[in-house]
Parts: sequence; C-alpha cells; structure tokens
Amino acid sequence: MSAQLPVSRATFDEVMIPCYNPSGIVPVKGLGSRVWDQNDREYIDLAGGIAVSSVGHCHPKMVQALTEQAQKLWHVSNVMTNEPALQLAQSLVEATFAERVFFANSGAEANEAALKLARRYAIEKHGAEKTQIISFQKSFHGRSFFTVTVGGQAQYSDNFGPKPGDVVHVPFNDIAALEAAFGAQTCAVMMEPIQGEGGIVPAEQAFFDRVQSLCQEHDALLILDEVQTGFGRTGHLFAHEKYGITPDIMTCAKSMGGGFPIGAMLTTEAIGQHLKIGTHGSTYGGNPLACAVGLQVLSLINQPEVLTQIQQRAAMLKAGIEQLGQKFGCFSEVRGEGFLLGAQLSDAYLGQSRAFLQASADNGLLVLVAGADVVRFTPSLLIEEAEIKQALAALESAIQTVVA
Ligand SMILES: *Cc1c(COP(=O)(O)O)cnc(C)c1O
Repeated sequence: MSAQLPVSRATFDEVMIPCYNPSGIVPVKGLGSRVWDQNDREYIDLAGGIAVSSVGHCHPKMVQALTEQAQKLWHVSNVMTNEPALQLAQSLVEATFAERVFFANSGAEANEAALKLARRYAIEKHGAEKTQIISFQKSFHGRSFFTVTVGGQAQYSDNFGPKPGDVVHVPFNDIAALEAAFGAQTCAVMMEPIQGEGGIVPAEQAFFDRVQSLCQEHDALLILDEVQTGFGRTGHLFAHEKYGITPDIMTCAKSMGGGFPIGAMLTTEAIGQHLKIGTHGSTYGGNPLACAVGLQVLSLINQPEVLTQIQQRAAMLKAGIEQLGQKFGCFSEVRGEGFLLGAQLSDAYLGQSRAFLQASADNGLLVLVAGADVVRFTPSLLIEEAEIKQALAALESAIQTVVA
C-alpha cells in the first residue's frame, strides 16, 4: 500500500455502512480527560466514549500494561488458557459475589452468554417449559439478535425477521406489572440497576427488592447487566452493591477495558457449571492483551480511596449541572449515581438533547445524549476537579446559546 490517504468525516459516508451518524469532530489524540481533533482543537471529554474510557485516555499505566503484554503474547485462543486471563478472573472472583468467570469481547456478547446460560440452567434443572425471559421497557442489552430482542426498545429489533421467543417486557419500576408477568415459567430477569441508554433511570429500592424475591421464589435467575454501571462507574465497584442485592449472573464490559474491547459474565460455581465443555465459546474471549488491560483497570479503580474520590467528584459535577439547570430553567432533574449522570430536559426543551450536545461541542466540551430528552455525562472516573470546573464553564456557555 502507498502512503495513507487523507481522511475526514466526509470519508465516512463514502466507505462506511451508514448505521451510525458520527459527529463532525474526528479525534486524533487523547490524554486524561482531554481529546484533540484533526484541526488540533482541544475538548474536555465528559462522554468518555460512552462510559468506556474509565481511567481517561492513554493513562500511562494502561499504555504500559498494553505495550508490555504486546511484547509478550497477543493471542492463543481458548484451546489454551493464559496468565492474564487467569489473573483477571481470580481478581474478579475476589472482588465480587462471583465464583466463575466467562470472558467476552463486548457487552452484547457477555449478555448473550448470560441469557444462554440462564436458559440452559432452567431447562436442565426444571424442564423445557421454563424459558421466559423478563426484561424492562427502555432497557438496553446490546445488538446481537437475542440481546436486542431482550432489550426494551422494539424498534431496534424489528424488521430483522423472526425474533428469539419467550421474551416479555414490563414497565421499569412497576411492581404490579412485574408480579403479573412472573410465574413458574420464568427463567430469568435481565435488568440494569440504572437504565443507561433508556435515560439514566435508577431502579427503585423496593422494585429491585421485589425482583430479587420473585426470582428466589421461582428459581429464576437474576441477571444484572452492569455493562454501563459497573467497574466503579457509580462510585461502587458494581451498582448492585449499594442496593444490597446479589445477582445470580452479572455482566460487565465498557469501563472494564478503559477503551480496549473486553466483557465478562460472572456467576456462581453452581450456575456456571451448566455451560459444559463445548456449549459456548469465543475465539477472542479472554485474549491476553484485553485481560492485561482489564487487570490494570481493576487495580486502578478497585481501591476504597479511589471509589470515594469518584463519589466526591461526581457529586461536584452533579451539583454544578443542577445549578446550571436552575439558573437557565433547562433541566428539571439530574439523575444517576457517580459518574453516570443524566440531565432531564425541562418541558420547554423536550426533544432537543442533540442541540445541547452540539452547542457543547462548539464550546469545546464532549457530552452524550440518552434519547431526545436527556443529556448524559459519563466522564473518566479519574477526571480532575479543575477539569470538572472547566467543563461546567463550557457547559454554561453552551446552554446560553441554546436557551438564547
Ligand atoms: C453498552 C451496553 C451494552 C452493549 O455493550 P456493547 O459492548 O456495545 O455490546 C449492553 N448493556 C448495557 C447496559 C449497555 O450500556
């Protein structure tokens, strides 16, 4: 190949499948909570690659973990195991409820494994009729056909032909509807402790408790999707800890790799044994590069003082966004926990979340949306206080242009 051709946002439309509509900004470099685009414009990053860049961009310890592993061993497949995978699994077992780990490459794949495991467990233990999966309206669990069908937004799974069956969707935080749907036929409940894509909507404690008690009554498995809420995002290693809930199966991804693709499904020994040799697998799952990176993320995040610092700095960010919402009347509520925050647009601005995102970018600030009515913030868990202040100043300028 000859020298690399110049590329820009316009190239996207010429050579890429149009399932995304990326921003006009093309980042080329990142450090901590800052990124720079092709024109060398600097941005403060409160998007964090959708809750993925958990320790910021190019953290020196991450670069070191990745490059050290890159000089040792990249890949062997699951025909053999490898040291980073074993070390990461050991650390996860030590840090959580879990006794067994399955590695995947993304959130969708971790959830796919969880759903298959739950079905296998129920069928082997209780018979072929126990297959019902309960999930929640507006939930998001990934884009494989099973996970997107379990997700609570039908428009993402419609028009691809016949869907995996026996999946029901119940309104989130609605105990009566949950009780009405539940029965001996229920195999599993899949839920996010805080709905992410659905608008940053936390589970209510009483609802979460009822999910758990119904699961126990019917030996249905509680699958917690902590892909977005996990790995310190909420100021707890996993969001369910604060609720005092113990899942049967938990999935994680996003923050787990800090930008390197990795996911995991965690469960108990008794449940995990139902995926016997040959029943499930992945070529890349547990890849040494990914696991070396995941191990470094875990050691940076899973320290009491770091988790406390996340809670403190996130409270500062939340209070700042709330103040701006009051000053300009643009946000009616700021929801979420830790660095998973959503600003609900007030009635006058409903449907305009993208205008806030665009105005923020124009002011050197990267944010996200969660639907048309919520501006979402999922920065690096290690963002500095000075950067939060700078981000809030940029957000204020952005809001001024939208409300003008
Ligand atoms: C992002 C997300 C997924 C999907 O993860 P991918 O890595 O995109 O497959 C699943 N569940 C939740 C809660 C998510 O936020």
